[in-house]
Amino acid sequence: MRKKIVAGNWKMNKNLAETEALLSDLKSKLGNISGTQIIVAPTFVNLQKANEELTQVNIDVAAQNMHQSENGAFTGEISADMLNNIGVDTVILGHSERRAYFGETDALLAQKVDTALTHNMTIIFCFGEELQDRKSENHFAVVENQLKNGLFHIDTNAWKNIVLAYEPVWAIGTGETASPEQAQEMHAFIRSAIAKAYDQTIADEVSILYGGSVKPNNAEEIFAKQDVDGGLIGGAALDAESFTAIANAL
Ligand code: PEP
Repeated sequence: MRKKIVAGNWKMNKNLAETEALLSDLKSKLGNISGTQIIVAPTFVNLQKANEELTQVNIDVAAQNMHQSENGAFTGEISADMLNNIGVDTVILGHSERRAYFGETDALLAQKVDTALTHNMTIIFCFGEELQDRKSENHFAVVENQLKNGLFHIDTNAWKNIVLAYEPVWAIGTGETASPEQAQEMHAFIRSAIAKAYDQTIADEVSILYGGSVKPNNAEEIFAKQDVDGGLIGGAALDAESFTAIANAL
C-alpha cells in the first residue's frame, strides 16, 4: 500500500537557532501524527541537529541533495556515506532548482539515483515540466522523458526506495498552483508510464507527491485527488503553522 507523505524542503533557509525553533514547533504540532509520514529537509549543516532533535517523534529527516561519487576531490560536496553516517537515509534528488541553477541533467541524476540506492537510501525524485512545455502541450512527453532518463533504469525491487514528486516548474515558488485536476491528470499519467515501463503493481504502490505552491488553503483539494499521495512543500514548510495545516489536510 502506498504511503501518504508530506515533506518540507527548507532550501537555503533557517540558521541553527531558527532550525531549532522550527523543529521544536513541529515536534509539538506534528510529533504524534499517525497515518502520514512527515519529512523535513533542512540545510546540510543542520541535518545532524535535526536528526537528534527528532529521534523521539514521528518526523523524518531528508537531505536536499547529494553527490554521485562515493568520495574524493569534489570540493563543497556531500556524499551518501556522510549522510548515512549521521543517520540520514532519505535524499531529495532532481529538484528543479538543482536542475536550473546547478546544471543537473537527467544523466547526472541517474548516477545520483544509483549511488543513493547503493546506500539503500530513500529517494524523493523530483521532476516536472516548465511553463513553455505546458503551453506547447508537451508536458506529458517532458515528464515521461525525465522519468525514463533519470529513473527508469532502476531494478524492479529498487522501487520500494522511491517516492516521486511531480513539481511543475511554473508552480514552484510562484503562488501559481496546478489545479487539482491538472495534478490528478499528470499523476495518473505518471502511473501509466510506470506501468508501461515496469508493471501495474509498482505503478499502484509508489507514492506520488505534488509540489508547487501548496498552501493551507489549497492543500485539501489537491490531496483529495486519488493519485495524489501528499505534497512536497517549499515556502509553506518554513512556518510551523502552515506546514501543520498542510499535513493535517492529507
Ligand atoms: C519546492 O520547492 O519543492 C516547492 C514546491 O516550493 P513551493 O511550495 O514554495 O512552491
